[in-house]
Amino acid sequence: MNPASSPAALAALVDTIRDIYGPGPIPLHRPVFEGNERAYTIDCIDSNFVSSVGARVAEFEATVAAFAGAAHGIATVNGSAALHAALVVAGVERGDEVVTQALTFIATCNAISYAGARPVFVDVDPDTLGMSPAALRRWLEANTRREGGRTVNAATGARIAACMPMHTFGIPCRIAEIAALCEEFGIVLVEDSAESLGSFVGPRHTGTFGRIAAFSFNGNKIVTTGGGGVIVTDDAELARRAKHLTTTAKRPHPYEFFHDEIGFNYRLPNLNAALGVAQMEALPAMLAIKAEVAERYRAFCAAHGLRFVEAPEGKVPNHWLNAIILDDRAARDAFLEASNAAGVMTRPIWQLMSELPMYADCQNDGLGNARWLAERVVNLPSSVPDSEFGRLKA
Ligand SMILES: *Cc1c(COP(=O)(O)O)cnc(C)c1O
Repeated sequence: MNPASSPAALAALVDTIRDIYGPGPIPLHRPVFEGNERAYTIDCIDSNFVSSVGARVAEFEATVAAFAGAAHGIATVNGSAALHAALVVAGVERGDEVVTQALTFIATCNAISYAGARPVFVDVDPDTLGMSPAALRRWLEANTRREGGRTVNAATGARIAACMPMHTFGIPCRIAEIAALCEEFGIVLVEDSAESLGSFVGPRHTGTFGRIAAFSFNGNKIVTTGGGGVIVTDDAELARRAKHLTTTAKRPHPYEFFHDEIGFNYRLPNLNAALGVAQMEALPAMLAIKAEVAERYRAFCAAHGLRFVEAPEGKVPNHWLNAIILDDRAARDAFLEASNAAGVMTRPIWQLMSELPMYADCQNDGLGNARWLAERVVNLPSSVPDSEFGRLKA
């Protein structure tokens, strides 16, 4: 690997992005509605089923669950709500701790906080950008003790109730190894699969390795419902609990209102679900097109000595957001400046959660790889190009 990402190579990269996406401002990721999106949403309006009741919700839930190979799907108003409800039904309670990664979007930690728990941050792998099973094992062995069937943080006395890794930019992390560790330590695995719809480890979809997982259908994700989320699980009881909790915990009855616990109004409206059903129809073609865009970036980077983030062998990413790794923070900032000034939207990876005021005092393992990556990773425009829209027609 050539360590020098030369200014000439980076200027040529901006030209290549223009070749792919054409003139005008180029966003990082924009939604595309070339299939049945209009027909299905207009049908909701015409039939008056725009809100929390309607057949598209159940259809969307079943479609996403089937695509992921999970037994059950529960739609929610957004991915953050899905993660929150998933943690609650997985048994996370006030005062617990949840092991996660510091290199993630804020929603991961927000969901942990909504459940009344505190995050603990372990490092990521430099190739997947997701939780490192080796770092997880090191942290658990050095910082926890077993008490009955539980794993307890030796420093705080809190129960480690769950582990929540995240599949960064749709690149599957080493989730099978993490699942085995969670099994060994008696910790519930909840996958933050918000970014990884369409990402597989061998034949198995991300989000099916733990007890429960959540996908996001926000407008910037690979497919969208405007805003939305889906919880997936194979556990019928967890699915029932999740549906109940996210729909105000109302006991079914033809006319009486009886709510048996404090639930949430996390329902996905039928209007959004209708959009989602159409987007799921387009997803296979979208994945194929995005793989081609990623291959163009990969080949360009290989030819110009740039470091392109590629999934390790055996892992099939959805290529939601492509990323490169620059030499240092100065090189990163120079590229961000130049590309954005040229109308090509590029973005750095997130600031580490451990550096935000709410989470600065949470335990972490040093986060060597996460810190290194946070200074160097830049996302490139990754939408389906206009020239490929024909392949998305219903
Ligand atoms: C998008 C996202 C979520 C959930 O997001 P919503 O915007 O609430 O749908 C959660 N975690 C990660 C890592 C995400 O990227």
